[in-house]
Amino acid sequence: MLINSIIKKTLGLKSHRVEKVFFQEEELVAKIVPRKGSRAVCSGCGRKMPGYDTLKERSWRHVPCWGIKVRLVYQPRRVECTGCGIKVEAIPWNRGKSPLPLPLMIVLATFAKRLPWEDVARLFGLHWNTVKAAVTYVVDYGLQHRDLTEVIYIGIDELSRRRGHTYVTMVYDLARGCLFWVGDGRQKETLEQFFAEWGPERCKALRGICCDMWEPYADVIRELAPNAILVFDKFHIVKHLMDAVDEVRRQEIAEKNQQHKDLVKGTRYLSAKAQAGGAQAGETDSHGFFCLYLCTSV
Ligand SMILES: [Zn+2]
Repeated sequence: MLINSIIKKTLGLKSHRVEKVFFQEEELVAKIVPRKGSRAVCSGCGRKMPGYDTLKERSWRHVPCWGIKVRLVYQPRRVECTGCGIKVEAIPWNRGKSPLPLPLMIVLATFAKRLPWEDVARLFGLHWNTVKAAVTYVVDYGLQHRDLTEVIYIGIDELSRRRGHTYVTMVYDLARGCLFWVGDGRQKETLEQFFAEWGPERCKALRGICCDMWEPYADVIRELAPNAILVFDKFHIVKHLMDAVDEVRRQEIAEKNQQHKDLVKGTRYLSAKAQAGGAQAGETDSHGFFCLYLCTSV
């Protein structure tokens, strides 16, 4: 049956199979059994071991199908492992004692990136704590398996929370466009903490760092990542340019004669447009840097 194949595929079954799928109390129940002759894998060491006994049936909530709840049922086996003793077998879709299989955890965590956790819980008919546990598992897995070896271009930015009363500093991998570090505050010490965790070898390997014109950050970068080119982000450079042109315009209007004033009047948007055009021409590389290397002027 097609539904059996879909469940098999979503759970990544190899040594197990879906024996039958049936309706029970408005739920689709999939009964999973070991393949005939398959040996259970020890959850302690990952080796195939002789069976010991079979535990009572466990159930898991799977990803709903066409709005219908799906439940998986299976009787885990125990193995007599030569190295680990009596152990429960490794079950491909199971993670510890969680009542959720791995595919549902991933779906919940994906939804939780876009929606408040409470909405995700309501959408899937689960408790808020269940969503939290799924997100925690997926995030922990991601942190343990992420690869930061190739990171050589980073972006540093700050975010204000609670109407500007608290700040957090965020560090991005610019090549992949992803956030990988967050620290409380936006002081010199915050960034020093990041570089301490990043380690001296990886600091040396950094080729470019983009940040806003925040003096404490610039000082720390020059000191702790000496091989990196310090680049100020486009937004702040354009803002400074706009402010400077505006100031000159105001001075011109204040000081010159009436004829000159009439000439300058109404040109604000013209000059702004000219600057914006110039800014685009300044973009040169593929990592989102605005390549005006003003590192010595701040
Ligand atoms: Zn073992």
